[in-house]
Amino acid sequence: MSIAIYPGSFDPVTLGHLNILKRASRIFEKVYVCVMVNSGKQPVLSLEQRLEYLRLTTGRFPNVVVDSSDKLLVDYAKEKNAKVIVKGMRAVSDFDWEFQMALVNSKIAPDIDTMFLMASQKYMYLSSSIVKEMARYGVDLSEFIPREIIDDFINQIRSRR
Ligand code: ADP
Repeated sequence: MSIAIYPGSFDPVTLGHLNILKRASRIFEKVYVCVMVNSGKQPVLSLEQRLEYLRLTTGRFPNVVVDSSDKLLVDYAKEKNAKVIVKGMRAVSDFDWEFQMALVNSKIAPDIDTMFLMASQKYMYLSSSIVKEMARYGVDLSEFIPREIIDDFINQIRSRR
């Protein structure tokens, strides 16, 4: 079975993430979308909240499994028998860091490949950080994050002010 991991912080999941996930789910027989809790980023949402938003919005993909891990990414991939790590590539700004991570991962786990899917033009500019910033200013989020999570997400951001 072809298995891939789509890792990230998903703080929160955006339409850009879901676009990558949809495309990965057409390429692989099974995709683990995994909230990595050791990424060094300071998330605004709790792990449970991020998982809940992913579960709410990925139900339509039967071959996608929502998960979380505090392991090293390649160790998690091995545990799941995945040979591919899927990453979204937005602009040149993503390239340096992602290239570095892919090289390090291929050094420590040569049998696991990183596959980059180019961001859709529509979501090229979209990041979870931009969404959080817009939510603080009350901007309409319907073009950026799935509608199922908008109200709850806005409440979460407001309660943290
Ligand atoms: P962010 O960079 O928005 O904080 P994550 O760390 O959760 O998001 O990103 C997880 C993965 O999704 C990364 O590979 C990232 O490049 C990709 N990604 C994030 N936003 C988009 C987008 N708008 N389009 C395509 N890929 C994206």
